[in-house]
Amino acid sequence: MNQRDLLRRAVDSEPVPADLSALVRTSLEGHRSRNWLGLLAGLAACCVLLVAGLNVYTVSVLRVGLNDHVHCGLGRNFPVQAESNEMAAALGPEFGPMVQPMMQKTSGLRLISAHKCFVGKRQYIHFVFEGSDGLTSVSITEQAGLEWLPVQQEREIDGQAVIGFEDDHYMVFVSSAQPKPDLAKNVEEVLGFRL
Ligand SMILES: [Zn+2]
Repeated sequence: MNQRDLLRRAVDSEPVPADLSALVRTSLEGHRSRNWLGLLAGLAACCVLLVAGLNVYTVSVLRVGLNDHVHCGLGRNFPVQAESNEMAAALGPEFGPMVQPMMQKTSGLRLISAHKCFVGKRQYIHFVFEGSDGLTSVSITEQAGLEWLPVQQEREIDGQAVIGFEDDHYMVFVSSAQPKPDLAKNVEEVLGFRL
C-alpha cells in the first residue's frame, strides 16, 4: 500500500462531524467579530491621536497670545498711560475706538496701557490690565499661516490661563494668572467697536 492509499483510507475512516457546518459558521463569525474588534481598536487609536494632535495644535496657537503677555506684559516692557485719549492715540484709528468700551466692560480691572507692540516680527494690539491677581493681557494680532481657532479655547500654559478665539481675520487672546472667560466674552463684544 503506497502513501496515497494510506491517506485515502485515513480520510475515508475519519467520520464527518454532524455539526461541521455549525463549526464552520462559528469559525467565520469569530473571524468577522475579530475583524470588527480590530477595526474598532484602530478607530479608537485614530481618535486618540487626533485629539492629542488637536490639543498640541491648540496650545501652539494659544502660545501666540501668551508670548505677548509674557514678553511685553509680565516683562513690563509697555508704556503706562494715565489718559484714555493717550491710549486711543497709541492704538491708531482702527483700534483706538475700543479703549473706552474696553474700560467700561472690565469691572475689577484697571486698564493701565493700550499700545501696539512687537514680539519678534509679530505685531500685537495690546491692552494691559491690572487687577488683584496681577496683570491681564488682551492681545490682538492678525491671523497668520494655518492659525485657526474656530471655537473659543482655554488652556493653562506655563502657569498662565490663556483664552483664545478668532474674530474676522484676527486672533484674540486673554492671558492672566486666573481664567477670565467673562473678560473674553466682553472683548468679543468690544471688538465690534473697531473701525
Ligand atoms: Zn505690548
